[in-house]
Amino acid sequence: AACITSVMHWTIHERARAEERILLDRLSALAQHDPLTGLANRSLLHERLEAAVSAEESALVIAVDIDGFKPVNDSHGHAAGDALLVEIARRLTTCIRTGDTAARTGGDEFMLVLPGSSAERGTTIAQRILDEIAAPYALDGKHVNVSASIGITVGPPHADPRVLLEQADAAMYSAKLSGRATFVSYGKAPVGESERTLIIDARTARNWAAYTRNLRRQISKAKDAGTLPPQTRGPESIRRTLESLLAAIDMLPQQPGLVPLSLPAATALEEFIFHHELVQEWARMLAAKNILDLDWSDD
Ligand code: GH3
Ligand code: MG
Repeated sequence: AACITSVMHWTIHERARAEERILLDRLSALAQHDPLTGLANRSLLHERLEAAVSAEESALVIAVDIDGFKPVNDSHGHAAGDALLVEIARRLTTCIRTGDTAARTGGDEFMLVLPGSSAERGTTIAQRILDEIAAPYALDGKHVNVSASIGITVGPPHADPRVLLEQADAAMYSAKLSGRATFVSYGKAPVGESERTLIIDARTARNWAAYTRNLRRQISKAKDAGTLPPQTRGPESIRRTLESLLAAIDMLPQQPGLVPLSLPAATALEEFIFHHELVQEWARMLAAKNILDLDWSDD
């Protein structure tokens, strides 16, 4: 009898321990997951990213923000917006493998961490995510479409996790600025653009363009008047770089604040900047001799 009693005690004790373990696991899962979508939350994302970069591997980080999510909330209601987020989360998880992490880090913001993945895999997955998210959703008995802006970065082993998250976010912001429904790799141009993109204050760019055009007009006037001393013309590539920059500035959106400006190839741009500085110096020298009137150069 004593033996049976002790086996029963042991069984009860073991069952209590197992239940306690299940409860603790459930609590820790709740603390580390987003209650709406069941994806990892920011805290678990950080933990997984820390683990990824401390291994001897590169880590791919992808930031995803839904485009035009607010209008869905506004026209179909908050509950439909929630259902959309749950479906987006489900689609995101179909794009990744075991060992990768998908997290919801804000209202309609998601982050993915893919340990040991290359930049090539990043672009393949980003394209897949774009396609998945763009497929229509059935909400409220109606079809709804949204797109996503995606930023990608790849960090070497032991990269700073905070820096990687910031880079993915900045690349995502660049995708938003370049018209949404696209992906941008950190430090590279948006897809479809062979040029690099500089995030610049639109007003500064327009002031610079106005200055450059004024300078060009002044030089041509002085040339017509025959007051211009002989000078060597810059290479044709510099003139083309200047024209393409001025045209790109003209195309900038009218909104105030930061906008993306497509830059010509790096070497052409560097050459142009070098010569532009020489031209400015030359223009100041001509102004000092009253050949050019640079009064406008301060605006
Ligand atoms: P953009 O294209 O620039 O990304 O704009 P957007 O309309 O997607 O809006 P934005 O990303 O600036 O803001 C996300 C909105 O998502 C803000 C908020 O109204 C809504 N939101 C945030 N959390 C939730 C949520 O848990 N459920 C629902 N239904 N909506 C949410
Ligand atoms: Mg959004």
